[in-house]
Amino acid sequence: MRTTMLTRKFLLCTGQWVTVEQLANYPYSHIVGELRYALDEYQSVSVLAVYENSLPSNVIPPIKPDVRVEIIGDARRIRCTISYCEHFNRWEIGRSAFLQLSRRYEHYFEKGE
Ligand SMILES: [Zn+2]
Repeated sequence: MRTTMLTRKFLLCTGQWVTVEQLANYPYSHIVGELRYALDEYQSVSVLAVYENSLPSNVIPPIKPDVRVEIIGDARRIRCTISYCEHFNRWEIGRSAFLQLSRRYEHYFEKGE
């Protein structure tokens, strides 16, 4: 599977999606993963790449951080890996929210930017 990265979108342990510029607005959150666009057998899909370890939101993650799992579609119970974090227990995104996000991303992709 080949992944393409456009404008990076990060998923915080609070369940919010933010851009690089918005990271500074969430100093008490951690980055759980990021959205990627993947080409799987000529079909484009949006993928949530969950980091091996959640990262503090005051640091922009490296371009290719270690990824624990790539999720397509429904994503539930993605834990923040920071043990003292109040969002350590669980977090989830419903299918509709994920699809909505994917669609926005797709639209962006089609514009060819
Ligand atoms: Zn956290």
